[in-house]
Amino acid sequence: MNAEMPLILIVEDEREIAEILEAFLRQRGFRTEWARDGEEALRLFRAGSPDLVLLDLLLPRLDGMEVIKAIRRESRTPVIMLSARSEELDKVLGLELGADDYITKPFRPLEVVARINAVLRRSQSGGAAPDRP
Ligand code: CA
Repeated sequence: MNAEMPLILIVEDEREIAEILEAFLRQRGFRTEWARDGEEALRLFRAGSPDLVLLDLLLPRLDGMEVIKAIRRESRTPVIMLSARSEELDKVLGLELGADDYITKPFRPLEVVARINAVLRRSQSGGAAPDRP
């Protein structure tokens, strides 16, 4: 049985970063959607049921903290926070709000892919064992 490849919702207002992430994820077979601000993120989240959300902290309209609070009120979908700020407080806040992981910019795209795979494996480990290549 071949499951559909995971859908990753990228929430990032910087086009260059979003395009790099999309390119790396699609190369590896993931499906991606891109939201440019917090309101669009919630709209696409509710419409598309992504398997994981990559969520930038500083966003127009609604910031990443507000977005993850709204997501956590309605779902346990894995969320990885992205932020240029590296203060430990942000890290703790991000995780206390229900983020599954936290990545500091600038990041290497391969690291993001590795973190996504790790979080997806953890979130699926309650169910059947995933197929290994
Ligand atoms: Ca940003």
